[in-house]
Amino acid sequence: MGTDSPPDLTVLGGGPAGLATGLYGRRAGLDVRLLEANDEVGGNARTLQLGPFRYDTGAHRFHDKNDEITADVFDLVGDDLRRVDAPSQICWRDRRIDFPLAPFDLLRKLPLSLLARIAREQFAIPRVSDNADHFEEMALDSYGETLANLFLLNYTEKLWGADADTLSPSVAGDRLEGLDLKTFFLEAFGGRTDKARHLDGSFYYPRHGYGQIAEATADALGREHIRTGARITALHHAGDRLTHVTINDDDTVPAQRIVSTLPLTLLIRLLTPAPPEAIQEIARSMRFRHLRLAVLGLDTPRLTPNASLYFPSRDIPFTRLYEPTNRSPDMAPDGQTVVVLELPCHRDEEAWTQSSDAHRASARTLLHDQDLLDADIVAFEENTVPFAYPILEVGAAEKAERLRDYLDRFKNLHLLGRSAHFRYTHVHNLYARAKSLTHRLADTDFPSEQPLVPERDLIS
Ligand SMILES: Cc1cc2nc3c(=O)[nH]c(=O)nc-3n(C[C@H](O)[C@H](O)[C@H](O)COP(=O)(O)OP(=O)(O)OC[C@H]3O[C@@H](n4cnc5c(N)ncnc54)[C@H](O)[C@@H]3O)c2cc1C
Repeated sequence: MGTDSPPDLTVLGGGPAGLATGLYGRRAGLDVRLLEANDEVGGNARTLQLGPFRYDTGAHRFHDKNDEITADVFDLVGDDLRRVDAPSQICWRDRRIDFPLAPFDLLRKLPLSLLARIAREQFAIPRVSDNADHFEEMALDSYGETLANLFLLNYTEKLWGADADTLSPSVAGDRLEGLDLKTFFLEAFGGRTDKARHLDGSFYYPRHGYGQIAEATADALGREHIRTGARITALHHAGDRLTHVTINDDDTVPAQRIVSTLPLTLLIRLLTPAPPEAIQEIARSMRFRHLRLAVLGLDTPRLTPNASLYFPSRDIPFTRLYEPTNRSPDMAPDGQTVVVLELPCHRDEEAWTQSSDAHRASARTLLHDQDLLDADIVAFEENTVPFAYPILEVGAAEKAERLRDYLDRFKNLHLLGRSAHFRYTHVHNLYARAKSLTHRLADTDFPSEQPLVPERDLIS
């Protein structure tokens, strides 16, 4: 094993969480080394290139919910970070329904008989959603059978690949914040709620794609502190500390403090010696949902006016279409556009294993069926987003808690990141957590053996 003197802080993973930790760590005066398995940084928030087209690893937007972090990101990206106003919609039969749902829009687009049923259910249902045991119960109790079946249960089951009664109510994250009776009435009477604002199509987006935030963060951190192509293959421990990190199975280097942004379950697998069988068993039982992307460059200026188009129908394998040019026109050459279709998969499903040709054909069929495709496809590629969504099954939060309890024994380990915590969170939250964690680590009054427990409460 290597004996070189280790940096103050070794950061595992170069997605938004790792990059922000590296940047704020350096700014706080720490010596940082960041290790990333891929050849590029950015993790699941990267921008990729297909000939003259650019697209992100899934539909991303920057939410300005934390003034300090928004200001920091403006400092990084500069004037290229622009406010975008592009509404999202749900494809329902041959109609496009605004998302978040809006009363006047529903009045215009849903049949009266359906509206009457929805209205009756809205007033009849008991508001017990806070106590629901699973997502299905929460959806039915909160929104009534008709709305839940039309737009929530089918979409949710497709996205997570699990029955709604096995999923935790928290799988909705903040997606449903705009979908409640109070918001309906506020809108109907001319008000607008802050809660729904970020969902209704107003957000920030960098001119050259979402990945520009990660790239600018890496530049500011200093590329010399980042080692790409460095896959962590073992994490050695002795007593109450992690001592060494093995990179690509052959290079073992010492570490002082470690911030891991790797998926929680992977971290458990990498521990050497291995944790007790019961801990390994919990980690094996926790699952992530992956995404397969179909990316089409098209010879037409625009396909939709939307930030995202959602497909709740069970007959359509894809969950969402987004058109990067509606976020920034610089994502495609003049007169052309690019669209990305998201297909959620487990690795043993046909959606994941089907050939590229079959995937392309299914994307094409969807666009035809939705009357979207009347232009030539001038470019196509597919891509994957592994570990896209931690699957929050009923009991998953408790399992994650057990794993974090186990990891608490390592006094120089801190967890930060979406997969690292096995919780939904956003980039602005990750930057805020990284900033507060690194300030505490750089504080000489901060006890060097401070456990990672305090970080838990910080994820929102
Ligand atoms: C489709 C989609 C849309 C989203 N939309 C938004 C949005 O609009 N706004 C928003 O704020 N958030 C959004 N998110 C959520 C979140 O911001 C992203 O998931 C973000 O990428 C999480 O950052 P992270 O650093 O925690 O993890 P990741 O981005 O997953 O980064 C983890 C990094 O660790 C690396 N790694 C893994 N294993 C190893 C190993 N063994 N050794 C070394 N490195 C390793 C990976 O290569 C990766 O670079 C979205 C997520 C998805 C999937």
